[in-house]
Amino acid sequence: MTIPNAPILVTGGAGYIGSHTVRLLADQGWKIVVLDNLVFGHDQAIVDPGVELVVGDVGDQELVRSLFETHRFGAVIHFAAFAYVGESVTNPLKYYQNNTAEPIKLLQVMQEFDCTVFVFSSTCATYGVPEKLPISESNPQNPINPYGRSKLMVEWILTDCGHAWGLRSACLRYFNASGSSPDGKIGEDHHPETHLIPRVMMAVTGEIQYLEVFGTDYATPDGTCIRDYIHVEDLADAHARALDHLVRGGESVRCNLGTGVGVSVREIIAAVEEVTGKTVPVKYGPRRDGDPDSLVADPSLAKQLLGWQASRTNVRDMIVPAWLWMNGPNHGRFPANPRTT
Ligand code: UDP
Repeated sequence: MTIPNAPILVTGGAGYIGSHTVRLLADQGWKIVVLDNLVFGHDQAIVDPGVELVVGDVGDQELVRSLFETHRFGAVIHFAAFAYVGESVTNPLKYYQNNTAEPIKLLQVMQEFDCTVFVFSSTCATYGVPEKLPISESNPQNPINPYGRSKLMVEWILTDCGHAWGLRSACLRYFNASGSSPDGKIGEDHHPETHLIPRVMMAVTGEIQYLEVFGTDYATPDGTCIRDYIHVEDLADAHARALDHLVRGGESVRCNLGTGVGVSVREIIAAVEEVTGKTVPVKYGPRRDGDPDSLVADPSLAKQLLGWQASRTNVRDMIVPAWLWMNGPNHGRFPANPRTT
């Protein structure tokens, strides 16, 4: 891989998927500047001392302009976003502001500086309830919540900027990000934590009393929802490939990032019990609003366009490192951010 001299701006690079990607890109030799407001990110998640962290907002055009003036970025990878679906329903403007309006401001500065490569964190939530499984990119994109719509709008904006001023973009539609780096140095640390795998583990460690299973009457073999859990390091690898593809002059891409393997909530619980050797206290509750029965990717386009496929497809491969992270020196939590306390 040829590494260009121009540095890369990574927004949200102190977050979960961002920090794993930054670590991989730094290992590959890319020069990285992270812009993160540390609202959800953690400065300790940036483990490479060569990576510069700038604390600030993506929509702060004065700041972003000054960064472009200093660094003349060759590309931007944009992770910074809010991702709580339920909150997006009760507070949609917060999501349209942060996930849609802020990237517009970033793109305006990119256009000023003629920076024409953009890698974007999109989501399978842009599909809504799929017409067909597994979900290929030809499925209609009909998001069913403001979070999905806030991301889909950016996909459209990127397409329009491509036509208007030659922006080349990769919209990477993640399925369920999970796992952590195998050395246990970085991992998933959300406040609040709503995701299934960490919550199952929190039930095992006693951090929460029990895991509530949201619905047992779905049209799936065991009645619980089926999702496609993709290892965060595989997501990082896809970003590195997308960046390389675009920097070398490749066309814009829109593709799914999943394993193609569906796993139910009950299967996750069973796998966590197997890995930890402990029983998960469980309570069976009603459905959570807006959860489709099954979301499983057809990941073949990413293979065709980027040469990418998930290297880990067994859910144990996500659970083992996640459990290591939970049991590491920080018990699945980064120490408080010195800049924000
Ligand atoms: N889920 C659950 N209990 C929880 C958290 C999640 O039963 O405490 C279920 C949820 O209904 C969904 C699956 O686990 O079917 C994955 O949810 P998660 O929030 O991890 O990801 P999502 O698919 O919503 O992005």
